[in-house]
Amino acid sequence: MTNTHEPTVEIDLDALRARYAHERDRRLRPDGATQYRRAAGAFGYYADDPYTERQERAAVTTPIEVLVIGAGFGGLLTATRLRQAGIRSVRLMDEAGDVGGTWYWNRYPGIHCDIESYVYMPLLEELGYVPAWRYAPGEEIRRHAVAIAERFDLYRDALFQTRATALTWDEDLAQWSVETDRGDRFHARHVVVSSGTLTHPKLPGIPGIEDFRGHTFHTSRWDYDYTGGSADGGLTRLGDKRVAVVGTGATGLQAIPHLAEAAGHLLVFQRTPSTVDVRDNRPTDPEWAASLEPGWQQERMDNFLAVLAGEPVDHSLVDDGWTRTPHLQRQILSGAVDESLSLEQRRLQDELADAETMERIRARVDEIVHDPETAELLKPWYRYMCKRPGFSDTYLSSFNRENVTLVDTADHGGITRMTETGIVVGDTEYEVDAVIFATGFEAGVSGVLSGTLPVSGRGGRQLLQHWQYGPRTLHGFYSHGFPNLFHLGALQNANSVNFVHILQDQAEHIAAVIGRAHAEGIDVIEPTAEAEELWCREVVATANDTRAFQAECTPGYYNGEGTRAITGMTYSPGPVVFRRLLREWRAGSMADVFARDDRTDLDGELDDLDLYDISERTGVART
Ligand code: NDP
Repeated sequence: MTNTHEPTVEIDLDALRARYAHERDRRLRPDGATQYRRAAGAFGYYADDPYTERQERAAVTTPIEVLVIGAGFGGLLTATRLRQAGIRSVRLMDEAGDVGGTWYWNRYPGIHCDIESYVYMPLLEELGYVPAWRYAPGEEIRRHAVAIAERFDLYRDALFQTRATALTWDEDLAQWSVETDRGDRFHARHVVVSSGTLTHPKLPGIPGIEDFRGHTFHTSRWDYDYTGGSADGGLTRLGDKRVAVVGTGATGLQAIPHLAEAAGHLLVFQRTPSTVDVRDNRPTDPEWAASLEPGWQQERMDNFLAVLAGEPVDHSLVDDGWTRTPHLQRQILSGAVDESLSLEQRRLQDELADAETMERIRARVDEIVHDPETAELLKPWYRYMCKRPGFSDTYLSSFNRENVTLVDTADHGGITRMTETGIVVGDTEYEVDAVIFATGFEAGVSGVLSGTLPVSGRGGRQLLQHWQYGPRTLHGFYSHGFPNLFHLGALQNANSVNFVHILQDQAEHIAAVIGRAHAEGIDVIEPTAEAEELWCREVVATANDTRAFQAECTPGYYNGEGTRAITGMTYSPGPVVFRRLLREWRAGSMADVFARDDRTDLDGELDDLDLYDISERTGVART
């Protein structure tokens, strides 16, 4: 891809860099990622399930061929592909009361996916479904997850409201012994972990948070009994309330317009403004839907993935805010770069293109927001990919309403403290009836990574001990010493903003490997120590070094709240190259995972590799 870029506006890069550095500095906090609190223990009620009543059931002891932990799209796709590969004995397990994962938990007003539904919602052709909107509402996506489970008979054997609490490799049986918080004890030949993408809420560690006597909840556990209304809005019970919302990330952007419409008074507590680009959602054109030829979805998904990965395509099928900024996304996501330019030239070009995009986004704030002071506070001063890009056609205009107040907390590193009756920023107290936390999640952290699901492999070795210098896997899927255990998610594999596509590829790969083992009568799938070591080295050797970029960013979960970059975690050459590599690997003997290798491990040899530290990934204090 050529990346020649002539800026169309005059940009003083030095001044811009200085402004960005200033904005970063005033937000940096010494406690970094540990500023957050897990919604557990005394704060556990923030994670309670408001959607499904708890069902009592007998403990399960029946063994299963494959246990899939996590019933979001990753788990559903893996189970589907396993069934299609001829493996009938598959059990889904999830802490939620139903399938859907992120879309089970997140039902806040205004919820939509901001990746185009035709490429985001999986298995559309298998289910004969075309989404009703270009950017689908959350409920449509959640129902689609249910439809997948029904269509592929995935409710059979499923265990909901159940959390796996221990996995222990049973050497004699060559199976995993599984324990859960519902007293289940059963064996599974294979275990697939696909949990934790965006489900467990995190809370800011605001002093006095427990003193607040008003109503409070997290956006991913929306309390419609309190607010009235639904995900479509109409929060009629808030008419006489003073409501505070904390957080202006992708969730805040979608919920705030509905809160603004309904609340007696809405106070928006902002620390860092999001980029808010054009959304332009629209209903699906029925003529277009009728014209789709078989294979259309995979083609569109592949095209979207390729465009974002900087791979050559004839034309971009999805033309939106994502496909117009692939070179900017490369700052933190994997993909091809223009090798005809030197690193310095590339960096300068990207910086200029970035500045131009950000200028346009800042100008949009001035166009929409009437009060100049408020407009100034809503302007993002950082590089485009420092934060997750946002899109909305209703968010900014919410601040033109009389009943909405923007409270900027940047100079104080966020909210100062909470009292029985409200929120304090600096010396000013704001009395409110309710506080809604739109403060995000422990992103990409499965129980395996957070330590809530201890995994004991061959010889009693703990997985987190094996991963003490960062996850060590072959292709991101499995580790030596932990046979028949598979991981989905962003671990030493390629990533993209259409994460469900990434999960689908991963699901297909895992199902293919298990299916082949099944067909060939192989009981144990485990990468050799050597294959794992080589892959770790490959990931590090090809890593796109994002440290300089991330160090200059405002803090957020992308850069460990300003403490560290995430270099070395994913496979930088990108998802298109990674898929090709896996396809070729699958066409071979798979000896890397079918050949027994009894070396215990090569730990010491990896000490010098700059893999990342797990604790910096979680974005929450462990305590
Ligand atoms: P984020 O982590 O992106 O945002 C959390 C917000 O809370 C930030 O604005 C943060 O400010 C603010 N915050 C945290 N602590 C404090 C504090 N002490 N005082 C004041 N403000 C505070 O969470 P989201 O739920 O918005 O999004 C999480 C992810 O979910 C997204 O990145 C995206 O991947 C996904 N998502 C996707 C959607 C879609 O497709 N439409 C919709 C919603 C979410 P600061 O930035 O300064 O840290």
